[in-house]
Amino acid sequence: MNPKLLTTRWQELPEQVIRRLQTEKLRHYLRQVVLPFSARYRELFQQHGLSADSIRSLEDLQRLPFSSKTDLLNSPEHPQRVRDFLLIPDPNVLARRPATVLRALCQGRGRVRRQFEAEYRPIFMTSTTGRSTDPIPFLFTQHDIDNLGRAGKRLFEICGAQREMRLMNLFPYAPHLAFWQTHYGGAAFGVFTASTGGGKVMGTDGNLRLMSKIKPDVIIGMPTFIYHVLHQAVEQELRLENLRRIVLGGEKVPDGMRRKLAQLAGKLGAVEADVVATYGFTEAKMAWGECPGAGDEAPGGYHLYPDLGIFEVINPKTGEILPPGHSGELVFTPLDARGTVVLRYRTGDFIDGGLVYEPCPRCGRKTPRLVGNISRSSEVKEMRLDKIKGTLVDFNQLEHVLDDAEHIGAWQLELRKRNDDPLEIDELVLHVHKTDGIREEKLVRDLNNCFVAKTEIHPNRIVFHDADEMRELQGVGVQLKEQKIVDNRKMSGADKAPEPPAAASDRASESMEVAV
Ligand SMILES: [Zn+2]
Repeated sequence: MNPKLLTTRWQELPEQVIRRLQTEKLRHYLRQVVLPFSARYRELFQQHGLSADSIRSLEDLQRLPFSSKTDLLNSPEHPQRVRDFLLIPDPNVLARRPATVLRALCQGRGRVRRQFEAEYRPIFMTSTTGRSTDPIPFLFTQHDIDNLGRAGKRLFEICGAQREMRLMNLFPYAPHLAFWQTHYGGAAFGVFTASTGGGKVMGTDGNLRLMSKIKPDVIIGMPTFIYHVLHQAVEQELRLENLRRIVLGGEKVPDGMRRKLAQLAGKLGAVEADVVATYGFTEAKMAWGECPGAGDEAPGGYHLYPDLGIFEVINPKTGEILPPGHSGELVFTPLDARGTVVLRYRTGDFIDGGLVYEPCPRCGRKTPRLVGNISRSSEVKEMRLDKIKGTLVDFNQLEHVLDDAEHIGAWQLELRKRNDDPLEIDELVLHVHKTDGIREEKLVRDLNNCFVAKTEIHPNRIVFHDADEMRELQGVGVQLKEQKIVDNRKMSGADKAPEPPAAASDRASESMEVAV
């Protein structure tokens, strides 16, 4: 079977064909690109007695060890650890290949040299957003930038963009995937895209001024920032009648947040604006978009690009690959990356509907899809609610509770030490903006009940703020990313709690969880 089908007919192939072509492509990628030019993977394959030919089916991926964020973190012994994952081509190996010789004869040596440069020389980077750790840079070659554009173009198609639309990209201007995925995707798709750089570059007012001039059909950005921008637009009585789609990335997107954004769009004059999410992360060097549902229909899941990478859903405890349709942790292996390459990357993200291959019920495309909600293991935090032991609290659930709650807009959860004493127990303070006339006592009671029902804990205090105070608390226009969960516990000495899997902020902007 022609391996190019995976690219030329990426949205039309049945499951068995996808799996067979992905296996062939992975084997070829390992043999021609990864093993010859990645010292780390050459060594790792040798240690495990593996070669490219060990991969006879996608199930054989199980034989390759996982990678995770820990493998990429620097240490005093390894100050530049991520460099181990960079492909460094050996010119002699490339020159000896029959295909190279043939191309040099037909096209000339100079042209072949330029093609190799474009394929392997790093010229661009994005990085993770780590606050507790150094950001980890991922390098792109021209080949990767072409794939970033290709992924972005497809993402725009999936999300229903049309060339005559006007888009505004509100992601923060930074070496983060979300901003650049949107930029390169817009250029590859051929649609007008104004990138504001987000709140820190132009401020909320600057974004609003541009928005009222451009009258965008689509706005793309992080949910918390877009919420603030649209809320302020409503306060200023702006009209955005053309707005028909809000595309979210950089954070996960609880259903309640979708509903609140759609309501705000309605108040701005938009008729049935829909809200779609995207998912992506630095290590994949691309993002995927959700197929919008019509009206009250649920969205059709994140549509994947079978020629650019393989997703597995695994049991996070045993590491075993789960069958289609099962919830589990997402693991990603690229199929065409150059520059920085990480195989079988454990994202720490959980999908509750799993990976499926049936044609999309919304658009009919046949691509592998991730269905359901995505949550983060990094948002499970250890809290010391008494002096004896820590309790694990899943902030993913709290986020859903708060975004779903009626009568409140922006919110922030603050973890702190009682009396700011590092030896004291932890406290949870909820800051909220009340959006209507409900009595504070009743809202406090309702919120406490919701918390206890979902998580068995409740905030120690609930503090009410107006919209301006919430903007300040969340750092709108000051921080690259708005802060919904802040950890103000100063750890010291004996009371230092064990490290959670990773700080929530570490994965923030990556998720176009992302992008676009
Ligand atoms: Zn679809």
